[in-house]
Amino acid sequence: MSIKIEEQRVLQILQDLVRIPSVNPNLDGGVPERKIADYVEAFFARLGLASERREVRPDRPNVIGILPGVLNDVPGLLLEAHMDTVQITNMTIDPFSAELRDGKLYGRGACDTKASIAAMLVAMEWFVTNDIKPHVPVFMAATVDEEVNFLGVLDVLEAGHRFAAAIVGEPTELQAVVAHKGVVRCEIETIGVSAHSSKPEEGVNAISGMMKVVHHIDRTMNDRLRDVTHPLVGQATLNVTEITGGVAPNTIPERCRIKIDRRTIPGEDSDQVWRDIQAEMALFAATDEQLNLIVHPPFVLDYAMDTSPDSEIVRLVTAKAGEKIGEVRTHGVPYGTDASKLTHVGIPSVVFGPGSIDQAHTKDEWVELKQVVLAAEIIVETMLAFGK
Ligand SMILES: [Zn+2]
Repeated sequence: MSIKIEEQRVLQILQDLVRIPSVNPNLDGGVPERKIADYVEAFFARLGLASERREVRPDRPNVIGILPGVLNDVPGLLLEAHMDTVQITNMTIDPFSAELRDGKLYGRGACDTKASIAAMLVAMEWFVTNDIKPHVPVFMAATVDEEVNFLGVLDVLEAGHRFAAAIVGEPTELQAVVAHKGVVRCEIETIGVSAHSSKPEEGVNAISGMMKVVHHIDRTMNDRLRDVTHPLVGQATLNVTEITGGVAPNTIPERCRIKIDRRTIPGEDSDQVWRDIQAEMALFAATDEQLNLIVHPPFVLDYAMDTSPDSEIVRLVTAKAGEKIGEVRTHGVPYGTDASKLTHVGIPSVVFGPGSIDQAHTKDEWVELKQVVLAAEIIVETMLAFGK
């Protein structure tokens, strides 16, 4: 069955969503996601569908709408997309007017990832309007905080539902993304002894110590990662990305801190990677009397994501999308998504949605309306076939 979705309906919902600012509150000019969550909740209520509102943080609720299946005592299909966007700083268009020009819908979040929310909402609506049930229940989760800490998707896993698979909405140009890297970011601190710089022999220079650490990371530790590769996402990497140290030009510095960014690949466990960094640094410090260091716990830790191309959800999405747009393949991407939190607990997930990642976070963010319509059709067809 080839499903047709009304373009005007998609446009209307997407414009509504873009016109509700939902810049992540941790970013410049941010606001809690409450208003857009209200919209999604009201949408489900109008359809007569049950929904759950879960306050992940004050004024920052996830909303999960539930479409009953023919079978209901079985794990369901999860449709997930985040409501928060990045900041609007330096944008060259009106971020919230949701103007349609030459088939493109402009605005912050238009592409990343309100287009996916719109496609999923329209898909849920299609089932209600046509009085058709999917085979298994479908849960649509509109989540908070993807752009910063992934609090929303983690809370979806706490909601007590069972998920057989998930589609995670992100701009993939309707391609199926089945793998991406994870990340571990932490601080390393060297501790010296401060002294007047006219008598440096009385102190231990924390910056000099850190230079040895940076050198060890750049050479030895990085060299070892050359062979740590994955066919879809490429090589694991490690970089020193920030450094601070010292207090005054005439004082031997007591402290120096760096931030490191380690990208993990599928097959690596991000928790273990951090423990390995800690162990490696302890060994390195033990070789040098002057070197005293601390590896702080990660301030960001995310898992790499990897779903088998043979899983039902990947096969269905690639087949249905392929029928609409021609060749659809499975891909790996460099950016992280909510999907890694789902695959980490064993839920096969595919990242899929309208728009291009090249337009996400840009100063004139847009999405091609036609692609949003196609995404909705592909999602409906996948929902119809899943679990049969
Ligand atoms: Zn996104």
